[in-house]
Amino acid sequence: MRHALGLLLASLVTAVVIAAIWFWTSSRRVELAAPNTVTAPQAERFAAAPAKPQAARDVEVTASIPDKPAALAQPKAACANPDALGVARVVVIDTTGGPGFGFEHFKQLDFLADKEVVLTFDDGPWPGNTPAVLKALADECTKAVFFPIGKHATYHPEILRQVAAAGHTVGAHTWSHANLNAKKMTDQIAKDEIEKGYSAVKLALGAAPQPFFRFPELQHGPAAVAYLGTRNIAIFSCDLDSFDFRAKNADQIVSTVMTKLDKQGKGIILMHDFQKHTAEALPTLLQRLKAGGYKVVQMKAKAPMQTLPEYDEALIKDVKVPVASTRPVSSVVQTVSE
Ligand SMILES: [Zn+2]
Repeated sequence: MRHALGLLLASLVTAVVIAAIWFWTSSRRVELAAPNTVTAPQAERFAAAPAKPQAARDVEVTASIPDKPAALAQPKAACANPDALGVARVVVIDTTGGPGFGFEHFKQLDFLADKEVVLTFDDGPWPGNTPAVLKALADECTKAVFFPIGKHATYHPEILRQVAAAGHTVGAHTWSHANLNAKKMTDQIAKDEIEKGYSAVKLALGAAPQPFFRFPELQHGPAAVAYLGTRNIAIFSCDLDSFDFRAKNADQIVSTVMTKLDKQGKGIILMHDFQKHTAEALPTLLQRLKAGGYKVVQMKAKAPMQTLPEYDEALIKDVKVPVASTRPVSSVVQTVSE
């Protein structure tokens, strides 16, 4: 009798364990399959916003990364900073026809709500400054849009890869920072500057960048604007220029941005990860944004940039390095005797 009771108890325990394992694994599957819906309330709010047909068509608010299964999507790293600025909203841009953003030049697409900002950084990647900007952004668990210069991308591809790996949006800012609105500029040179810039960023990243473009010195040449439209590349001006490249120190950048923001209430902020003072200013600036009740919006493109193969190939010939291999020196060159 006691033996039978023991057997009964043992099988009962086994059944409970099996049920628990089944429950745990199936709930894990559900977790993995469920999309991340943190921004859903904003999507509802955006959908309810009246009288913005153009913005509603070109700017789509997302609640998740839709084209990848949840298990393959980049895991959302936990933020170690409980008071972080974070990302309040992610928007996906349909770049068809080359929409323009930033009220300094383009007034059609007013998609930011009051107190919303977009952080943008030009002219990198650059040693020291770009990694410092990345660290400041990571400390606040927030995201930005980067517009690297093609040449700089070929000098420091490993830094640009860090930008992309951190989950920031990477566009382009021409090959050599030429003024595309200059008197001597031709349509062919402008095209070369734009296309070679994208091919260089692609070469550095080992993946296509986003079809987001910023004109050097915000010089929007009409022919180049039309060309970008045919290439379905979104154009970024800004709402708010930090003038960080001529700031004497970090404090000046913080006060310029905060003064303008408090007046304008929102906007796409233009900064430079190439600039030392910007990197120094960023930790304070991000904290001031948080304290001022500002919220960061990350902009992403709906589809990646389609670079032109002839520019990709020409660039690979130009840059005389074995770009196919990303192995570190230590794995290629070994000292066998000294
Ligand atoms: Zn620039």
